[in-house]
Amino acid sequence: MRLRHKKNAEADILNCPLVINEKILNSNTGASKINISTIFNNDHPVHLELGMGKGKFITELSKQNFDINYIGIEKSATIILKAIDKLEQTNSLSTYSNLRFMCIDISNLNDIFDVSSIDKIYLNFSDPWPKIRHQNRRLTHRNFLLMYEKILKKDSYLEFKTDNKDLFDFSIEEIKNSNFKLLEWTYDLHHNDKMNMNNIMTEYEEKFSKIGNKICKLIAKI
Ligand code: SAH
Repeated sequence: MRLRHKKNAEADILNCPLVINEKILNSNTGASKINISTIFNNDHPVHLELGMGKGKFITELSKQNFDINYIGIEKSATIILKAIDKLEQTNSLSTYSNLRFMCIDISNLNDIFDVSSIDKIYLNFSDPWPKIRHQNRRLTHRNFLLMYEKILKKDSYLEFKTDNKDLFDFSIEEIKNSNFKLLEWTYDLHHNDKMNMNNIMTEYEEKFSKIGNKICKLIAKI
């Protein structure tokens, strides 16, 4: 099933087995939040990538760790379709048993996921929103950190990568002023042997490091 009609992207992705349709789940169960163990049929840890784009990073992770469930969140249905198209080119979708996508806006996370239900959050190359008046849209703004804190289990990790130094500096300050503890950070990931070990490059990371941008990464714990 190759999904080509981007115009109807939203309708198309809801028919795809890898896409979690939270509206159907909620109406079937009467629950207000999604039941992750029913989706994956197991109680394995759950890791989210917020703003996954075309999904290279989370797909590779899911192939390396079959005992972890991965959910990629992306607000653009068209981009999720591209991610699914790419997966289908190599394998049948049923082989990706520990990988799911959700087409939602990250600002709705707390309406969808239960408190303390998630084991790790990845943010990769989030939109920088450079204007000060837009800073509350940055995904590392304190309001978003509070949302992540709610859904993460105690002693869980948040990892963030970007090539945008201003966004990275802002993120470090926001984390220092939050309940997260900043554990490790670098302004040049690809030359930091320890932090770069087992690094999986995202699409944006490949693109920006090729043109010479340094990649920043931080790891925080709640
Ligand atoms: N993580 C990928 C893509 C980075 S681009 C990579 O590193 O290659 C940022 C992505 O986040 C875009 O695909 C954009 O559509 C998505 N995004 C931005 N804000 C979002 C939000 N509020 N909710 C869901 N997705 C969002």
